[in-house]
Amino acid sequence: FAPWADPKAKPYIQIENLTKRFGDFTAVDDLTLTIYEREFFALLGASGCGKSTLLRMLGGFETPSAGRILLDGQDLRGIPPYKRPVNMMFQSYALFPHMSVEANVGFGLRQEGMPKGQIAERVAQMLKLVKLEQFAGRKPHQLSGGQRQRVALARSLAKRPKVLLLDEPLGALDKKLREETQFELMDLQHELGLTFVVVTHDQEEAMTMADRIAIMEKGNVLQVATPPEIYEAPNSRFVADFVGSINMFEGKLREKGSRGSRIVRADGLALSADAPADAVVGEKVWLAVRPEKMKVSSARPDNAVNTMEGEVWDIAYLGDMTIYYVKLDDGMVVKASTVNSLRRIGEELTWHDRAWVSFAPDAGVVLAR
Ligand code: ATP
Repeated sequence: FAPWADPKAKPYIQIENLTKRFGDFTAVDDLTLTIYEREFFALLGASGCGKSTLLRMLGGFETPSAGRILLDGQDLRGIPPYKRPVNMMFQSYALFPHMSVEANVGFGLRQEGMPKGQIAERVAQMLKLVKLEQFAGRKPHQLSGGQRQRVALARSLAKRPKVLLLDEPLGALDKKLREETQFELMDLQHELGLTFVVVTHDQEEAMTMADRIAIMEKGNVLQVATPPEIYEAPNSRFVADFVGSINMFEGKLREKGSRGSRIVRADGLALSADAPADAVVGEKVWLAVRPEKMKVSSARPDNAVNTMEGEVWDIAYLGDMTIYYVKLDDGMVVKASTVNSLRRIGEELTWHDRAWVSFAPDAGVVLAR
């Protein structure tokens, strides 16, 4: 499933030069984005970057200041929320406290004027889908957080929207339940063949669930890519830093060619990368290397490139892995992680030991911004 890689695939949701201003503040800034049918798409970014505002414009709860949104070729301008083939599940779930689960799930259908018998049938179907059949008569306060989340989901699916917009759908759940529910959501989306657009500030959640992720900052999209692409080939320092953890070596670009780039740090040390640089020679660039691609050893590696010496500053044992923080002479702290199942006994370094960190030329990404 990769319609974005197929030049013949038809775009489903087309967001074109979309802008939203609140007074003189621009929450969404000339944003352009394409989402495909049946895609599980995540909008990921820090608080305040404009992701909920973008989602609300898709749902019709907010009017764009400029630009447009097409759904399956149709301009959504002026179409009110209830007439869009789109439904939104709010972060707060917004369940009616005095109504039973059944009544909550059927609410939108009653408003639409669907005949009673059909409503009952559809509600039963939805409750079965989210595995809440036995809870039909309960009120929201008699449910757990996870069950309330499933009621909200059933309600937003009852009208059979083509697109479901989810604003922090798992935000109110504890970690364990959140992890379980991620897989339930993915199964449901797959089973129903719907397009999901989910807003989250949780990178793990986005990486787990989404086909593609848009990383947002200050009302715009910095990168749109699959989870492995976002992690392995971030296009900017912001993206590299936002998703996972990374070492960023700052330097000047000395050489660039089809075979790679050479970067010189302020201390004169040259680092090389197989990656081409999207920058002009002489300009400031960053060579970004993930901690798991960084080797740490108690002796200088033989004829190794990209090697730096320092002192073990801190060690974090996390069970599945250990992270070594090595402080270089210029004060930079480099993070190197080792998988513990691969670690050989007797190789451990300890605090204040001299240590060498190194990485292979194919381990890094060169970033110009
Ligand atoms: P969060 O994860 O905290 O919900 P977000 O990325 O979803 O953040 P938005 O809710 O889209 O962010 O808000 C983006 C910016 O727009 C924020 O700075 C917010 O204060 C501002 N904003 C949102 N709605 C309004 C409004 N109705 N009036 C004025 N400013 C608003």
